[in-house]
Amino acid sequence: MNAPIKPSTSMEALQARIRDIQEATRGVTAQYDRAYILQCIKEDRFPDELWAKLGEFGLLGLSIPEEYGGSGGGVLEITALNEALALAGVPTLFLVVTGLGRVPIVRNGTPEQIKKYVTPTCTGEKKMCFAITEPNAGTNSFAMTTLAQPNGKGGWTLNGQKVFISGARDADYMLVVARTTRAAEVKNRTEGMSLFVLDMKTPGIKLQQLNIQVETAERQYMVFFDNVELPADALIGEAGKGAKAMFEGLNSERLLAAGAALGLGDYALAKAVAYSKDRKPFGKPIGSYQALQHRMAMAKAQLEAARLMTYSAAERFDAGEDAGAHANMAKLLGSEAAVAAVEAALQTHGGYGFDRDYDVVTLWPMLRLLKIAPINNEMLLNYIGEHVLGLPKSY
Ligand SMILES: Cc1cc2nc3c(=O)[nH]c(=O)nc-3n(C[C@H](O)[C@H](O)[C@H](O)COP(=O)(O)OP(=O)(O)OC[C@H]3O[C@@H](n4cnc5c(N)ncnc54)[C@H](O)[C@@H]3O)c2cc1C
Repeated sequence: MNAPIKPSTSMEALQARIRDIQEATRGVTAQYDRAYILQCIKEDRFPDELWAKLGEFGLLGLSIPEEYGGSGGGVLEITALNEALALAGVPTLFLVVTGLGRVPIVRNGTPEQIKKYVTPTCTGEKKMCFAITEPNAGTNSFAMTTLAQPNGKGGWTLNGQKVFISGARDADYMLVVARTTRAAEVKNRTEGMSLFVLDMKTPGIKLQQLNIQVETAERQYMVFFDNVELPADALIGEAGKGAKAMFEGLNSERLLAAGAALGLGDYALAKAVAYSKDRKPFGKPIGSYQALQHRMAMAKAQLEAARLMTYSAAERFDAGEDAGAHANMAKLLGSEAAVAAVEAALQTHGGYGFDRDYDVVTLWPMLRLLKIAPINNEMLLNYIGEHVLGLPKSY
């Protein structure tokens, strides 16, 4: 690892920062709770009221400097928000993609671009999604073929296709990773990548909804770009040099995903604990049986360990240090711990775990997803193997 795990300079100060955000978030989720989000999912609609309230409370502005209309703080704060929402049973993939999409713009955009594309997301007035995945490239993003070419008028023409794009229907802007030089024409595969912000109303963008079974209010879309004309200011940073900015964004995405995993994992575990205190098929609460109790206790220990890693990585990221290894470990450990928690919850609920009305099996797809998206855990292990342990690359 580039540097050892760094304990927070003050654990109390760190906990106070997280507690403040959790308290503010509870002010929102008390009204817009699990029942509310399940209703939005049923009606196939964006949770507009929740989003507006998060904006009103200044929570959507977390991680964005105050001079740009944000509430300050860093990725640590927005990760804490994502965790707090999930802890209340209200996970949002949209916050993950908004949080991740804004990082490269704030770090690499001009003040005008930040004001235009990021500032309105702090109130919820505008929403942003993120598009990197392509049908044929999959995990191997460098093999993407979506191409932006200069249009001779100072702007760009975009052609290509993305897949699994969360919330594309509801977004006003999309941060797109595209090639400005084809993969076959660059020496190093990290060259020739660029970041663009698209206004979703631009002609030539078509959406096709996918049939994805994950209980969140955001649906996934195949997105087609057919000669989409982009203005010059759609390009974030330098053309062809977007890989570094992209990875900065992806490290923050790993932390946001870890936050979601930790919150929803604890939410699932709390359901298991409550149920196991009441359920007595043999006269004693099933929570007293060690086969179940140890499963829950192990999941709790794993969640807490992953939580330490997550916030340690977030502090490192916000300090401008290389947080790659830590962010990858945080998402790896967080998603594995969360799956252990939902497995414990399912086992504890027995047959009732599969009754949708108990809302346990409904948690499973989202938590299981986090082992695959936004990045699969095998790639995280590859990173640790290669960059931390110095092992040869396997793929
Ligand atoms: C609900 C949902 C929401 C999503 N939202 C977004 C979004 O908003 N924006 C966006 O851009 N993308 C999004 N994605 C896409 C997601 O990030 C990808 O599905 C994920 O990165 C994996 O890509 P893939 O599905 O093409 O899998 P593939 O690349 O086909 O990989 C399949 C499996 O092979 C294994 N594997 C692949 N490569 C390696 C390797 N080198 N070493 C070891 N094992 C490997 C892994 O187990 C992996 O799960 C979303 C996906 C889902 C399902």
